[in-house]
Order: sequence, then structure tokens, then C-alpha cells
Amino acid sequence: MNKFGEKIIFLIACLCILCMQYSHAQSPKEKIKLLIIDGQNNHGNWAQTTQMMKGYLEETGLFAVDIATTPPEGGDMEDFKPVFSNYKVVLLNYNGDAWPQTINAAFESFVKNGGGVVSVHAADNAFPEWPEFNKMIGLGGWGNRSEKDGPYIYYDEAGKLVKDDSPGVGGSHGKFHAFKIITRNKKHPITKDLPEVWMHNKDELYDRLRGPAENMEVLATAYSAKDQSGTGRNEPIMMAITYGRGKIFHTTLGHANESQQCIGFITYLQRGAEWVATGKVTQKVPAAFPGPDKISIRP
Ligand code: ZN
Repeated sequence: MNKFGEKIIFLIACLCILCMQYSHAQSPKEKIKLLIIDGQNNHGNWAQTTQMMKGYLEETGLFAVDIATTPPEGGDMEDFKPVFSNYKVVLLNYNGDAWPQTINAAFESFVKNGGGVVSVHAADNAFPEWPEFNKMIGLGGWGNRSEKDGPYIYYDEAGKLVKDDSPGVGGSHGKFHAFKIITRNKKHPITKDLPEVWMHNKDELYDRLRGPAENMEVLATAYSAKDQSGTGRNEPIMMAITYGRGKIFHTTLGHANESQQCIGFITYLQRGAEWVATGKVTQKVPAAFPGPDKISIRP
């Protein structure tokens, strides 16, 4: 073949590659594979909240959700063999026995290599003895957490983040009640376009959480009122963390079914899961999002 013929063939090949890429971009969007882990929890409604969250995520049209359930407390964890690398996101609805070392190592490498994690409510009580997990969630509570695990993070009255290293417990909460959420970072893809202040339905307002708090942004806080047996401080409620190339969305919300029926909880869950998967949020703000003084829940 002469030089001219070679050039023509090269051009045709280039066109083919371009066409293939274009048609791929135009094909229906592949869903984000997300794995919910549950199986042990001091919250007896965990099987129900797993189903609720699965529904909330799938209704966006963005996610295909699987569930991996561990053996019950004290069971043989050798039977628990999730393949994290098959997923883009792992959602933790788990607060129970430690996983085998091989699973911990696989989870660490999943997140380091860009895997996304969503941690809801009591999942941040889990694994107090697993340092890399605590880096991923930024802050945790209970399980004998204290100043040895990191500072207590809160916002002062002037709106400044405080890292308090003084001795004290890690994790407690006051009464189950409805409370206001205050956005602290309005520019994050998760919070952008969402109302700055909104009323969350009844939930546990976690306080005095402690942890490494590295590479962590507090997205929103809530005032833990003393008359609800709280701390009298603005407590971090939702956080965005990076770990290696991975992203983590940590919400402390979601104690009861009615807490998860809150459209604020649902919207943050959906947006947080998209952000940890892609670094972006394409979802619109629902019209029924709660107001500053008014809760808004799903039936
Ligand atoms: Zn709870």
C-alpha cells in the first residue's frame, strides 16, 4: 500500500474510534453499582432501613443496589466475603463485630483506589479499633472512644470550627426530637442549591464525636440544645471526607424509620451517594424539601 492509502486507513480508523466513543456517550447511562452492608446493629430496624435506603437510591435512576448481610453477632465472619471491587459505592448500615483482616484490607484498598463510602447513623459507632476506618469516617462515637481517638469537633457561636483535644467521651446524644440543620459549607456539590437551614424530623442528635478528622469538611451542623439533654453546642451532623482517591459521605442521621422518612435525610443520602461515586451531583432539589421550621416526610 502506498503512503496515501495508509493515511486513508488511519483516518478511517480514527473516525471509527470517535464514532464508538460518541455512541457510547449517547447510550443509556450505566447505573452506579452500590452495595449496602448490614447484618448487625444495635438498631433493630436495620433490615427495614436497608430496604428504605435501597428504594431511595434506586428511585433516582442512578443506582443499582445490592445488599450484603453479615452473619449475626458472634457468627462466623469467614462466610462474609463481599467483593468491593464490583462496586463504585459501599453504604454502611452496619454496627457490629469486626470483619476479618482480609476484608478490612480489601475495603481499605477499595477506598484508597477511588471507591466511595456512605456511612449512616450508627455505622460510625463501629470498628473503634480499626484506625483506617476511623480516618475514613473522620469522626466516630461510642466503643470506648475518647480523647485517645482524636479531638471533639464542634462549631462555636461565632461559626468557627473548634478542635477540642481536652479529655472526654466520644459520642453521646440527648432526647429523640426534631431539630434544625444548619449548612456550613454551601459550595460543596452535596449542599449546593439546598436550603441553608431546614428542619429534620425526629432523630438522635449525635454529639461529642471524636476522630482523626483528617481531610474532612463539615457540611452541616445542628444545635444540641441543653433542654433536650444535649451539649449546648453546634455538633457536626454531616461530613465529606477523602481517603486516598476515595470519597466518603458521613451522615449521623437516620436512627429510626421516621428519621429516614425525612425528605432532608433522603435528599442528602441520594446526593451524598452520587458525590462519592462521581465527584458531582446532578440531582435536582425536591420541591418537598423541608423548610426552616417545617418538617417534610415521606408517607
Ligand atoms: Zn440511634
